Amino acid sequence: MFIQGLTMSILVFLQANENKVSKVSLCAVTVANKLKDKWSKSDIYGVVLGENSKAVAEDALSYGFTKVFYSENEVYSKYIAKNYSQTLSSLATDNSCDTIIGSATSTYKDFLPLIAVSLEAGQASDIIAVNDDGSLKRPMYAGNAIADVEIATSNKLVSVRASSFSPSESSSATGEAVEITSVATAYNKAEVVSYEIAKKDRPDLNEAEVVVSGGRGLGSKEKFEEVMFPLADKLNAAIGASRAVVDAGFVPNDWQVGQTGKVVAPNLYIAVGISGAIQHLAGMKDSKTIVAINKDPEAPIFEIADYGLVADLFEAVPQFIEKA
Ligand code: FAD
Repeated sequence: MFIQGLTMSILVFLQANENKVSKVSLCAVTVANKLKDKWSKSDIYGVVLGENSKAVAEDALSYGFTKVFYSENEVYSKYIAKNYSQTLSSLATDNSCDTIIGSATSTYKDFLPLIAVSLEAGQASDIIAVNDDGSLKRPMYAGNAIADVEIATSNKLVSVRASSFSPSESSSATGEAVEITSVATAYNKAEVVSYEIAKKDRPDLNEAEVVVSGGRGLGSKEKFEEVMFPLADKLNAAIGASRAVVDAGFVPNDWQVGQTGKVVAPNLYIAVGISGAIQHLAGMKDSKTIVAINKDPEAPIFEIADYGLVADLFEAVPQFIEKA
């Protein structure tokens, strides 16, 4: 348990993108800095686990951490929730951190409840703002209600909706990268048989400035690829999709945007053959500019689109690619 009465600190879970701190993690760092002021915390520590984490920790130092802990021990190379939660719980306890923050990625969301149990901590999930009084805003019911919440326990866990915050800016590094010496006891009740990193020849969906997203209007996997891939290549965009096309097997499930997929807010989101179901809107409605192409003028997507084109996508998209 933590020793109450001392000034406590914040621990930020960092994830990597090509040996650097990922943009979504830098958005969590922004929240950590806000909460440091609002909740009167003393220091901000970071932690990064897995292959090449030393390089990532060194990169992270330019974002104002007092220390960034890392471990390249093989126990972390194939993600298992127990190993990650055990390590973060111990680091938090050993370094007087009563607050743990991370971006609401599938990994962080997966192991955070285990920390909540071990540290008897309350959790605020997917926060979209820090209020002046230090309470937190979070969406509920697929974004149809916004709640102001306070975490009543002394230990607090926060996951951050990255698309609602700007990434932290780098400055001169003052802290130190520290290797974790007491690594997790390898969890032996589960084993990762194989682990494949999705091949990425396009920008990451979470980090892209432009996202082109396809829906059931595309009709088949072949048509999806024929229409959407050249569009993405032309705009150097990430590709997203509605759940309907993920369920139909047109595209992998990590391309899904929406309530049960990824939440994105790029500068430009182009929805092609997507009707605009509320569960889809929950994942993209905060995009800066939304363009919709749909042959049905009554499609709900037009209600939130900045620019709408009522057209057959099989004619409109190739014409756009030709002229762009
Ligand atoms: P449809 O609703 O079938 O729309 C297809 C659109 O294509 C239509 O508007 C049609 O006019 C248009 N179209 C057809 N042909 C053409 C053409 N030639 N040219 C132009 N336009 C054309 N959905 C998500 O996307 N993400 C989620 O995370 C998600 N989570 C869910 C969670 C729950 C609990 C539930 C119940 C549902 C969830 N859904 C989610 C599903 C959601 O309700 C919709 O079923 C889904 O988003 C519909 O996908 P769609 O727009 O591609 O298909």
